[in-house]
Amino acid sequence: MILPPATLGMLGGGQLGRFFVIAAHELGYRVVVLDPDAQSPAGRIADQHLVAEYDDEDALNQMAESCAAVTTEFENVPSGSLAYLSKFLPVRPSAAAVAISQNRSAEKGFLKQHGFPHAPYADIRSEADIVQANAGLFPGILKVARFGYDGKGQLRVADREEALLALRQLKNEPCVLEQMLALDYEVSVVLARDEAGRVKCFPVAENSHRHGILDVSMVPARTTGSMAAQLPNKAQEIAEGIAQEMGYVGTLAVEFFVVRGQLLVNEMAPRPHNSGHYTIDACVSNQFEQQVRALAGLPLGEARAHSAAVMVNLLGDLWYRRDPQHSHEPDWAQLLAVPNLKLHLYGKHHARPGRKMGHFTVIGSDAQQVQELALAARRLIGIQDEPSPQPPAQGRE
Ligand code: ATP
Ligand code: MG
Repeated sequence: MILPPATLGMLGGGQLGRFFVIAAHELGYRVVVLDPDAQSPAGRIADQHLVAEYDDEDALNQMAESCAAVTTEFENVPSGSLAYLSKFLPVRPSAAAVAISQNRSAEKGFLKQHGFPHAPYADIRSEADIVQANAGLFPGILKVARFGYDGKGQLRVADREEALLALRQLKNEPCVLEQMLALDYEVSVVLARDEAGRVKCFPVAENSHRHGILDVSMVPARTTGSMAAQLPNKAQEIAEGIAQEMGYVGTLAVEFFVVRGQLLVNEMAPRPHNSGHYTIDACVSNQFEQQVRALAGLPLGEARAHSAAVMVNLLGDLWYRRDPQHSHEPDWAQLLAVPNLKLHLYGKHHARPGRKMGHFTVIGSDAQQVQELALAARRLIGIQDEPSPQPPAQGRE
C-alpha cells in the first residue's frame, strides 16, 4: 500500500488528470503531472508539472525518481513510456492494457478473441482489404486505428467506392471498417479493479452524442423500450469480464452500443471516462478517487450512487454564441442559480468549438425530475436542440 503523503505520477494533463489531482489531494497525496502543454488543466494544479513530451527520457526518469506509482489519463500516451516506467515503479493500468485500448484493431481483436460481443468489422491495412471486405459491412464507418477521439479520424462510407476514397483521405493509415449500426441507445460502464481482482462497478450511464462528441449522460439508464431491465446488469458483467481478461488494475470504462436490445462493446478507455463524471456528484467514491485507490493499493471505495444524475457537457462552442469571432464567457450565474446543479469548469485557457471546457451535473432523488431540470438548465445556457440518442447522420473528421 502506498500511503499519503506519497507522490503519485500522472501521464497527461487534461481534465481527467485534473480530477485525479483533486482526488489525490483530498486523500493527502502529492501529484507530479507530465504533459507537454505548460497550460494543461492538471499541470496547473499539480504539485509539480513536468513540461515535456510523453517519451522524454529525462522527464520519465524524473518521474520514476519522485513518484511511488504512476498512472495515465490518456490512452495515447506511448505504451513504451509506461513499459519503461514499469521497470522502476508500479504502473497501473499496465502498458499492455493501455496498448490494447489505444489501437482499434488490437481492441477489436481482443474482443473477438475473448468472445465479447462487438460490431461486425474488418481490419483495413491497405486498399486490398477494402476490396475484399465483406459486403455486409456497408454502409459502414472507417475509423483510424490510432489517435482517434471524439469522433475524429472517422468517416462514414456508403459503399466500397466511398471507403476507398475515405482511406485515401485518412492517408492510408491502418483503420478498421465497422458496419454502421442502427443504435437504440448507447450506454457505458465505469469500474475500478484492484490488484487482487476485486471490482467495484459504477451504475450504468445512458449516453447521447452530438456530432460524435458525448453530450449528455443519464443515470440510471432508462430501462424502457428496447432497453430491457436486465441490460444494465449484463453490461456490468461484460465490463467486468473485460477487466478480468486484461488483468486490469485501475479505473476502466467500457462503451456499449445497444442494437435491437443487444449489447455490443464499442470501445474501452483505460482510464476514467467523460460518461463517468456524474460519479463526482452522485456516488460515494467517484471514478477518480477509485483511480487513486487502485493505484495506491488502497481498498476500493463504495461505487453506489446516492442520487439520480444527469451530466451535460459544456463545449467551447458556447463561448462563441454571442460573437462567432471572439470568445465570451457564458453566463455561469444563471446555471449556478439552478438548485442541485454542480458546475465543473476545467480551467482551459482557450475555448475552441468542440473542445470540452467543463460540464455540469444535476442530482436528485427523482430521475424524471432530474432529467427535466438538467435539460432546462441546458437550454438556459444556450444549448437549444434536444439531445438525441441517435448518432449524427453525417461523417466528419
Ligand atoms: P470518443 O472519444 O467520444 O469515445 P471515438 O472517437 O473514440 O469517440 P467512437 O466511440 O468509435 O469514437 O464513436 C463515436 C460515436 O459515433 C459513438 O459513440 C456512436 O454514437 C457513433 N458510432 C461509432 N461507431 C458507430 C457504428 N458502427 N454504428 C453507429 N454509430 C456509431
Ligand atoms: Mg467512443
